[in-house]
Amino acid sequence: MSSQATPTLSLKGIGASPGVAVGHAYILDRKRVRTPKLRLAEAEVDPERMRMKTALDLSDRQLSELKEQITRTEGPEHGLIIEAHRLMLHDPMFVDEVNRLIVEDRINAEWAVRRVARKLKHLFDNIPDEYFRERRSDVEYVADRVVRNLMGQVVDEEVTLPDHAVVVAHDLSPADTAMMARSGRVAGFVTDLGGQTSHTAIVARARSTPAVVGAGRASEQISPGDLVALDGTRGTILVNPTEDQLALFHETMRRHQENEARALEAKDLPAQSTDGFRMRLVGNIEFPEEIEPLLAHGAEGIGLYRTEFMFLDRKSPPTEEEQYRAYRQVLEAMGGRPVTIRTLDLGGDKVPGKGKFEKEPNPAMGLRAIRYCLANRELFRVQLRALLRASVHGNMRMMFPLICGMSELREARSELEACRTELGRAGVPIGKRFQVGIMVETPSAALIADRLAQEADFFSVGTNDLIQYSLAIDRQNRDVAYLYKPLHLSVLRSLKNIVAAAKEAGIPVAMCGEMAGDPIYSLVLLALGFDELSMTAGQIPTVKDIIRRSNRADAKQLLDTAMELTTAEEIERFIRTEMEKRLGDVL
Ligand code: PEP
Ligand code: MG
Repeated sequence: MSSQATPTLSLKGIGASPGVAVGHAYILDRKRVRTPKLRLAEAEVDPERMRMKTALDLSDRQLSELKEQITRTEGPEHGLIIEAHRLMLHDPMFVDEVNRLIVEDRINAEWAVRRVARKLKHLFDNIPDEYFRERRSDVEYVADRVVRNLMGQVVDEEVTLPDHAVVVAHDLSPADTAMMARSGRVAGFVTDLGGQTSHTAIVARARSTPAVVGAGRASEQISPGDLVALDGTRGTILVNPTEDQLALFHETMRRHQENEARALEAKDLPAQSTDGFRMRLVGNIEFPEEIEPLLAHGAEGIGLYRTEFMFLDRKSPPTEEEQYRAYRQVLEAMGGRPVTIRTLDLGGDKVPGKGKFEKEPNPAMGLRAIRYCLANRELFRVQLRALLRASVHGNMRMMFPLICGMSELREARSELEACRTELGRAGVPIGKRFQVGIMVETPSAALIADRLAQEADFFSVGTNDLIQYSLAIDRQNRDVAYLYKPLHLSVLRSLKNIVAAAKEAGIPVAMCGEMAGDPIYSLVLLALGFDELSMTAGQIPTVKDIIRRSNRADAKQLLDTAMELTTAEEIERFIRTEMEKRLGDVL
């Protein structure tokens, strides 16, 4: 398989999702289509109409294939959406109008399509019914496809992915990552940008797809079809490896699978230390389909359902009904186990749709998460109504992201209560009251945790953001990724303060950031006294194994000694050495 004639290239990035993958490179290059605008000579009119017809036929064929595929993988309702797009291709309001513009205004087909699409979207704008108004984005979707086909551009990269592809890209949106990982054809991801807690990394981990991010100029250095071997634990990439290097990669792959099988044997045992401290190990999900692997790995519930992912790979937000169905599906699939659903955390690196979102100069500090929801009340209310309705179907808890102060919590809660009253008056079943907690993920929330604990029903610590904001390191920026230190004394002090505030107020405290699932921190978290740790499926068995073999008194002593030290490097070295001594065989 290896190309001995081609020199091997060795690249280094950040190991973002463990595991080893070998496959051929698929370079994903997403660019926005720019519409050319041309005036036609009379003789060009007929050929232009033919060109339009060819693009329509091609779009029709693509959509019919897509429909078949989506019906198979996602269910018939999704297939119907594609069918509606197909119908639009044949709608006289669309086709006849484009042809009229080509003939009468003598403009090229791409321009005509854009103009008609704009007009159609405008018509939808004035329809009072929300469902029909939302069809605006379908018009855009169809127009975009036709324009791409007119220009001979590749469409539906997700559909044409070869099996076992190593997807290489400059950057991947969370939506692209999720969509491709879901296709089941991706062996691994390599991106030039990103850090360990960027959302590309998180989605890859959730799907157990190996990934290396922050790999410099990989997307320029790797060519389509190159054989790529990547190690998502070490962050190494070999392009066109030799036979020997390849054999070594396969050996690592085999060892990884063996460890996983061993850890799975203990999956149904409780996560309880030898001196009786019980923790609940639960899972993080982005989509309902991730539940199956979670349960298979022994998750006792869901600690973080990142609902914003449902908003990412589409141009208009999901309706209340659609959201209700997704939440209900998750609650029912978990069969009475606790499920913590987080309200929308859009903004930052999670941008809905394509191009609609105005780029902020500093998105991490911008209109994100609860701020975004409070600024877009109707969007927020739609979600709250869907959640209230879904709560009837299982053991639901809800939490708000990026809370910085009490006013935000009160404002969000009062919105929830308003929705509860509205639904109640309309006679819609909404079930009994559920717990409403907050994500503690800003230094501000950590510092006033004692006050927040008076009004929040539980805390869930988001270390990805807490570390980003505490240490002032953009989690998307590769250049400062080396400063990401979960064991920085400031982080440990914050965590201690948060847990103490929760215990004092008698509310549960969980952690759902990436720190929760990394076995190297398990003893520190046991010592701190977290009630719940939420992580991806693959991390649960190892963390459980560690907790079951450990003693909390010993862990507390370890943490006390660590917190006597000062630099993050000293603390990390100390914790690693002690962890190796105690648990070297599982780390
Ligand atoms: C976090 O910040 O740690 C967290 C869990 O939320 P997200 O990664 O979605 O920002
Ligand atoms: Mg966060």
